[in-house]
Amino acid sequence: MTLVKAYAAQKADKALEPYQLTRREPGADDVEIKILYCGVCHSDIHTARNEWGGTMYPVVPGHEVVGKVSRVGANVSRFKVGDTVGVGCFVDSCGHCNNCKDHQEQYCENGHSQTYNSFEQDKKTITYGGYSTHIVVTQGFVLNISDKLPLEKVAPLLCAGITTYSPLKYWGVKKGDKLAVVGLGGLGHMAVKIASSMGAEVTMLSRSPGKAKDAEELGAHHFALTTDKEKMKELANTFDFIIDTVSAEHDYNEYLALLGTNGVMVLLGVPPTPSDVQAFHLIMGRRSLVGSLVGGIKETQEMLDYCAEHNITSDVEMIRMDQINEAYERTLKGDVHYRFVIDMASID
Ligand code: NAP
Ligand code: ZN
Repeated sequence: MTLVKAYAAQKADKALEPYQLTRREPGADDVEIKILYCGVCHSDIHTARNEWGGTMYPVVPGHEVVGKVSRVGANVSRFKVGDTVGVGCFVDSCGHCNNCKDHQEQYCENGHSQTYNSFEQDKKTITYGGYSTHIVVTQGFVLNISDKLPLEKVAPLLCAGITTYSPLKYWGVKKGDKLAVVGLGGLGHMAVKIASSMGAEVTMLSRSPGKAKDAEELGAHHFALTTDKEKMKELANTFDFIIDTVSAEHDYNEYLALLGTNGVMVLLGVPPTPSDVQAFHLIMGRRSLVGSLVGGIKETQEMLDYCAEHNITSDVEMIRMDQINEAYERTLKGDVHYRFVIDMASID
């Protein structure tokens, strides 16, 4: 057992504060990672504040981890001390169900182990995430990171990157497709970058007029304010795909109406409250409303390699660990450009 420094939420309505965490000694298949950077995902906030229910306190969030291998177990051959590696949203899965065999560990039929607020595969040891100096992960769930790109800008790819890359690949988004991204935050800005790199004609749908210029610089071809009802009417029936990254309650019907025939709207954001969907918006034009959860390990490696090749990284604002509560408040106000990343060297 190793004691490591971390930051935890002790209760839904309490600020995160310093916490001492026990990590297991690396077993034969384990990789111990000294964490350099950890991105701040809106899921961290939903969980720390128990907005989805089921938070086990104390909770140490963080699932956009980049660091250096500090120790390896006897059976570890793919990694050696000093290698640059990453960890995303999950750290293990059953390994033998149909989805695991198909490299879709995120949909493990026996329950995958999420990086925090979840259980290891023994179904009793609670997992703790990347707001800490070290993490120990079984080798099959550790990603290779190229040293070609700035590592702090790579960290958000481990969640925001793969979560947007995976549905774009699965639904075969290609050159010339008309695609809208709703919500310009962590996921939204990666969706714009990756979809435009695949050749899609990207429209940013945002409630924030101040983000228009940024959207264009990120690669969006058009920008529309979702509060501009005339503009929204004009956009009816125009998109092949909509990627919805909004973290709070909003009316899906307004966006479904923007899809053309056979159009697909992919839900990535997870508002804590359920929503009403009017069936007419789906049956008129045979539209689909679907969801997608991060991506498997093999696909995450593919995404990291794709981003290294296409020079795609996240736009980040670096923070010290003790600025995390302020970063949460700013994220909630939509004031994030476009991912906060914690410099783990700053933890005290
Ligand atoms: P984020 O950085 O906070 O971005 C969310 C964006 O949604 C905001 O920047 C804002 O964009 C828009 N928004 C927020 N509140 C809104 C409201 N009340 N009405 C309308 N628009 C609003 O969050 P994120 O880290 O990208 O995460 C987004 C969501 O995805 C969260 O719910 C998160 O839990 C979920 N998530 C899902 C997966 C998955 O596997 N499916 C993975 C990671 C995260 P504008 O200012 O441009 O409108
Ligand atoms: Zn995330």
